[in-house]
Amino acid sequence: MLLHTIAEVREKVKEWKREGLTVGLVPTMGALHNGHLSLIKKSVEKCDRTVVSVFVNPIQFCPGEDLDKYPRTLDEDEKLCNAAGVDIVFAPSPTEMYPDAQMLSNDFLTYVIPPFFYTNKLCGKFRVGHFDGVCTVVNKLFNIVQPDFAFFGEKDRQQLIILKKMVKDLNIPVEVIPCPIVREESGLALSSRNKYLSGEDKVQALALSKILFNIKACYNKGIKDVKALTETAYSYLNENHSLEYLEFRDADNLEEKKIADDNTIVFIALKIGDVRLIDNIALA
Ligand code: AMP
Repeated sequence: MLLHTIAEVREKVKEWKREGLTVGLVPTMGALHNGHLSLIKKSVEKCDRTVVSVFVNPIQFCPGEDLDKYPRTLDEDEKLCNAAGVDIVFAPSPTEMYPDAQMLSNDFLTYVIPPFFYTNKLCGKFRVGHFDGVCTVVNKLFNIVQPDFAFFGEKDRQQLIILKKMVKDLNIPVEVIPCPIVREESGLALSSRNKYLSGEDKVQALALSKILFNIKACYNKGIKDVKALTETAYSYLNENHSLEYLEFRDADNLEEKKIADDNTIVFIALKIGDVRLIDNIALA
């Protein structure tokens, strides 16, 4: 069932709750692929009812980012959700979520601001305010859908860590379920933004997963020093790549690691032309 308004969703969820059914929420920005579908599948398996939100959230895009050209494929998304057993596809308009245009500015909208220690690094350093927009919209979705479980991909690992922190700090009665990264056979992590890549760009994009897999292989051989682990990575990069970061951080609190251990995540972001790609791997 495709619903566009908050009131309709609330009504339906109220019915479910009266019947004692559990509700899973999978927040997305649409242009659904097998990565999203793995989250959806998990929710459909675990919960009595599943809501998938499809909303390109304007307040998590920074000036100059791809808000206008972000792929929007609602008809196709709806079909995929129906085939996967989703009960509600919630696709609100920007004005349904932010009724007053001026609300898009944080002078007028109540924002949920995650802690600086979590946002002043990795993607947060390059996308200032991005995680404020994410936490705000996810809070709104939690309040609208009131799910028992919410499913997020490890593909956006910093986001996942920040959302878990938000849920804990604000005592939100939702269990966050992390879901593993789905990759193409080539190793490339699935992403809606892969649609921007030409054939040649896609070959260049393999650098991300190659670097991460190589680091993990070296770690497994016993190399723990981050400097030593990073050195080999640069051999995968060429003039087509603009590296934003390659960092080793704690899986729970994002603290930097000088010596890698089993609780370390390696994070990478790079640009190929205008396209910004991210990936990460757990060393455990
Ligand atoms: P997005 O539509 O990009 O905001 O993503 C919606 C959700 O799908 C987020 O929780 C992402 O982490 C997750 N996701 C996106 N790509 C993948 C992937 N390749 N594997 C697993 N989860 C993913």
